[in-house]
Amino acid sequence: MSRTSSESRDIAWLLWSATTPSAAPNFKTALINPDAPRGSTFPPEHKINLVTLWLYKMSDKLELDPLFNKIDELKPQFIERLRQAVAIPSVSSDESLRPKVVAMSEFLVKELKKLGFHDIQSRELGTQPPPVADPNLQLPPIILGRFGNDAKKKTVLVYGHYDVQPALLEDGWNTPPFELTHDKTKDILYGRGSTDDKGPVIGWLNVIEAHNELKWELPVNLVVCFEGMEESGSLGLEELIGREAKQYFNKVDTVCISDNYWLGTSKPVLTYGLRGCNYYQITVNGPGADLHSGIFGGIIAEPMTDLVKVMSQLVDSAGNILVPGVLDMVAPLTDKENALYTDIDFSVEELNAASGSNTALHQKKEDILKHRWRYPSLSLHGIEGAFYGAGAKTVIPAKVIGKFSIRTVPDIDSHKLDQLVFDYVNKKFAELKSPNTLKVELIHDGNYWVSNPFNEAFTAAAKATEHVWNIKPDFTREGGSIPITLTFEQQLKTDVLLLPMGRGDDGAHSINEKLDISNYINGCKTLGGYLHYYGRG
Ligand SMILES: [Zn+2]
Repeated sequence: MSRTSSESRDIAWLLWSATTPSAAPNFKTALINPDAPRGSTFPPEHKINLVTLWLYKMSDKLELDPLFNKIDELKPQFIERLRQAVAIPSVSSDESLRPKVVAMSEFLVKELKKLGFHDIQSRELGTQPPPVADPNLQLPPIILGRFGNDAKKKTVLVYGHYDVQPALLEDGWNTPPFELTHDKTKDILYGRGSTDDKGPVIGWLNVIEAHNELKWELPVNLVVCFEGMEESGSLGLEELIGREAKQYFNKVDTVCISDNYWLGTSKPVLTYGLRGCNYYQITVNGPGADLHSGIFGGIIAEPMTDLVKVMSQLVDSAGNILVPGVLDMVAPLTDKENALYTDIDFSVEELNAASGSNTALHQKKEDILKHRWRYPSLSLHGIEGAFYGAGAKTVIPAKVIGKFSIRTVPDIDSHKLDQLVFDYVNKKFAELKSPNTLKVELIHDGNYWVSNPFNEAFTAAAKATEHVWNIKPDFTREGGSIPITLTFEQQLKTDVLLLPMGRGDDGAHSINEKLDISNYINGCKTLGGYLHYYGRG
């Protein structure tokens, strides 16, 4: 279904020329050859080709008006369903609220039953491993369900989470966080979980309700997987995906996750990449105990001096990683990828607003995005054991542990990166000729993820997004990680699509979390439209 760029350009010219009165004199020329000087003639076979393309373009758009009208009509019910979900304070990190997390899972099961899902399972995951206050604390279940089971249709697995971040009115909320509040002047819904991730989870259910009301058949088989521990490390999910890859999730063709956000506030995006993270620590050991600088200063080797010296050689102030060999592993930028950055809606002003400063290392949009998404970065995080309080304590710390991490990207080999870091840190320490000891180690790592934004799932999502929003989505990546994305891809051996519903300023994890009603309703249309474009593709 992919078009060449010249075909796309022809279509663009054709549409523009046909719909812009001022372009009428150029229409004939534009129709034939967009690059030709005005008034030139063109070969007739090109004309036929364009007519074919025109018909193709028209047939490319699915007739989804009944679905979209039904979603508009059901808006009050959809808001009510989200209100009921937000009213359950399913905070997974608060042990005292665990019954509420379980209540939220029961609410979902009830809704799935009402909508006609089958094979609904509430998978218990056992007790939560330490550290916990209550050793018998049960993990909330993972909810599985199916809608449709037709061997002739493709199967889409949708993932979402029904737990939320903590929220208290005293934190600075303008409205009670667990009461979905409709600001009618701005048409915004406020409430914890509205955008992360109850809005999208309920959105999938709304899509089914709209189909049921229309008596429309779903174009795919749908499998849902909703977890209740995402905000607390997704405990138990990875194991469940591994166990069910060939069982409950057998025959899944693609996975769709709606749990991230637009880059900005006005243009929809599809996300095709996430950076990984390798986290390291360097321990420098010296004297047997903390010492006084008045007695020992100048006559013993100080661990903090060695550590600062080594850490200062990991990265420079312009953000360049100084560990040799790291950049050599980064995948070269192709013309095709490079072209994706040009149209993306972003600016240095948005970065400055987000960081609350004028400290950007890059001024051009493309450079900022590339350095956030497709190049590695090294950040120094802290030093354990160092004096950090106010005042002027004259201590010489006996042992200090420096922490830093590297955000990883294709094609960095995680183990090779570890070796490069270890060798470099050890070499820099050896150059100091210090009698102290140094140990460098990896604390944890999570791999990067990158998908093909031109594959079937992304193409279907792009068509659905354009159909709903009348604008082509930006293809974005994120600087952070959603580890479960890679787990799904590897265990199920399928593509994963990240299809966000909310905007970049929704305040997930923050106070006054919100979801614009336009994003909620158009988001439902986009999710539904995606199933149709994917099912047909
Ligand atoms: Zn989330």
